[in-house]
Amino acid sequence: MARQLEGRVALVTGASRGIGYQLSKLLAAEGAHVIAVARTVGGLEDLDDEIKAAGGSATLVPLDLTDMAGIDRLGGAIHERWGKLDVLVANAGVLGILAPIGHIEAKTFEKTMNVNVTSTWRVIRSVDPLLRLSDAGRAIVLSSGAAHSCKAFWGLYAATKAAEEALVRSWANETVNTPLRVNSVNPGGTRTAMRAQALPGEDPATLPSPAEVAAKILPLAFPSLTETGRLFDVRKNRFLSYRDPE
Ligand code: NDP
Repeated sequence: MARQLEGRVALVTGASRGIGYQLSKLLAAEGAHVIAVARTVGGLEDLDDEIKAAGGSATLVPLDLTDMAGIDRLGGAIHERWGKLDVLVANAGVLGILAPIGHIEAKTFEKTMNVNVTSTWRVIRSVDPLLRLSDAGRAIVLSSGAAHSCKAFWGLYAATKAAEEALVRSWANETVNTPLRVNSVNPGGTRTAMRAQALPGEDPATLPSPAEVAAKILPLAFPSLTETGRLFDVRKNRFLSYRDPE
């Protein structure tokens, strides 16, 4: 069968482990050149080895996404080398802390907002012009059920994910008359380091693997996708509708 992303360029943040790592491998297997961003060089190198062994190609970008000037430079570098971007996967994220709202330290709140919200916005701002230069630009932003369930003690993380979804919905409304399609994804509980940090007592064997979850997300990167401004629920394996604005 023909590969879906032959000759396309995909940027994945948080590619050193978990969902981002597995999705990077799948994008490369579909023919995309993957630009893999994270801080952990060892994880990026493992990814590169796996992608190359499968016949694919990647560019590694060791970058802390709190380095906003670094994010700005990344857009410029992609423009110089490829002249466009076809796929953005804004996946990097941190849990912050599970704690009562009134007990969260200011520095933890700011750091978590910075990584999950400000850096996601900054990446979007850096590559939005490049995605518009693609004939089928696709953006996928990792959200969470926490954005909607707003359980006790999850307020910080929930607020960051709700903010990311709001950015995506507005961006989709701005680009609705272009070929660009931008969507949020709720992966559901997934067997990763972040999930183990959030729920250390949980048996990981009860959770889907990041590879299984990534396989469900992958089609959102394909040129054939039509939906935009929506939330894809991996567990339900379908897009959900946001309520009409009042
Ligand atoms: P992991 O903790 O396994 O991976 C997170 C990734 O983000 C790593 O590659 C990490 O790389 C990167 N990252 C974190 N901080 C930074 C930073 N400052 N700069 C650059 N990269 C950074 O998480 P998951 O794979 O579980 O999660 C992926 C996404 O899915 C997240 O957005 C998460 O909120 C969301 N999600 C996950 C769920 C789950 O159950 N796992 C459920 C719902 C949503 P490095 O540390 O090398 O920099």
